[in-house]
Amino acid sequence: MSLQKEGCTAAPWAGCATIVPMLLVELIRKKRDGKELTREEIEFIVSGYTRSEFPDYQISAFLMAALIRGLSRSETAALTEAMLHSGQVLDFSELSGKKVDKHSTGGVGDKTSLIISPIVAAGGVKVPMISGRGLGHTGGTLDKLESIPGFNVNLSLDQFRSVLGKIGCAMIGQTAEVAPADKKLYALRDVTGTVESPYLICASIMSKKLAEGVDALVLDVKTGSGAFMKDDKDAAFLAELMVETGERMGKKMVALITDMDQPLGNAIGNALEVEECIEIMRGKGPEDLRILTIELCGWMFYLGERTKTVDEGKKLAQEMVSSGKALEKFRELIEIQGGDPLVVDHPYRLPRARHTVTLHAKADGFVTGIECEQVGIAGVLLGGGRQKKEDSVDPAVGILLNRKVGEYMHRDDTLCTVHYNSRENLEEALKLIENAYTIGKNLPVTARPLIHRVIQGKSL
Ligand code: URA
Repeated sequence: MSLQKEGCTAAPWAGCATIVPMLLVELIRKKRDGKELTREEIEFIVSGYTRSEFPDYQISAFLMAALIRGLSRSETAALTEAMLHSGQVLDFSELSGKKVDKHSTGGVGDKTSLIISPIVAAGGVKVPMISGRGLGHTGGTLDKLESIPGFNVNLSLDQFRSVLGKIGCAMIGQTAEVAPADKKLYALRDVTGTVESPYLICASIMSKKLAEGVDALVLDVKTGSGAFMKDDKDAAFLAELMVETGERMGKKMVALITDMDQPLGNAIGNALEVEECIEIMRGKGPEDLRILTIELCGWMFYLGERTKTVDEGKKLAQEMVSSGKALEKFRELIEIQGGDPLVVDHPYRLPRARHTVTLHAKADGFVTGIECEQVGIAGVLLGGGRQKKEDSVDPAVGILLNRKVGEYMHRDDTLCTVHYNSRENLEEALKLIENAYTIGKNLPVTARPLIHRVIQGKSL
């Protein structure tokens, strides 16, 4: 297909501008009518929009057509690739060994990235991790890292490469050079009701992750009341899509569908979560967080060809914790990225809220549920997340859960402790947390598993 008017010799986006809107509208119509776009057509849309040659209203129409009609597997792959190549694709092939990352679709109390990077790097597989900030009721890795005094997540790509080469892991935020198309498209999706398309989510996540120059990727796709995908079937569909898309690009892929029907671990809130990560690296901490972390590390070691099986990988991860090597690596990571490494041995150096208040059980019984999204929203109301994009985050505030699903409580036992600095939204937050708990005389016959399903790429 020619994208230019007859006789035009300029690149499609560089000249003969009158033809461009006409062609774009043809592509919008094609998608609207449920037809499949070619790779070239998708590249044309993405590259033109990245260069600001197409107006938001036309791209909004295209996104809505894509959301309603869906995308085929080859359209999804083409969209991912076009977004990936809209910016720099990092290449770490000069660094020895495999590079593997983990991506989580996000949840409440999901802090595994901070533990996984040091464990896997200590075990000999490099982890170049580009992470995001809190989104809605879910927390973000960058906000947690920034609660460590001095920690700099804004390294240049050269500094990122240098840190990765020196210590085997590096953790930064998205830079302007990585997948700029996603930045523009995501902002537009956010205000046009087009975030909730598995195809667009897949292209958005995978374009950023594949730009990291990894050999393999472990996906943690959350399901339940605190996840973006509340339903197992939707989570599995997204997971399969991402696994297939990554494999088409030559990456080893696996997706774990994991539970987010209650917060992960006991801590929700940036500095409180860092402290819990340190506990896990000391071989302590909550069981659900420990089990999931070791499982994800096991897969990373296996996909990174460091071990022959996932079980061997899990054993290696456990060794990195019990030998203290993971904690030592975390100390190194904090130091090299400008943070205060003393927080590892003296967590009181992390920001602390000025006040705490405890909530108590109103009756005897089992905790049968903790409505996860409500707890996440309570954390945001306390100031631990953003209500608007430009809001700053209070690193010290949060919630420490004393009881999780399945535990028995007596009336007046402590449910949780809330750490706060301002009373502004405190009452509302406390109400949300209290109402999030359901207490019953009996436990459900079948408990939800922590790991619902594993979806492996065909190459494994
Ligand atoms: N996270 C992303 O990075 N992109 C999406 O589209 C949704 C969640």
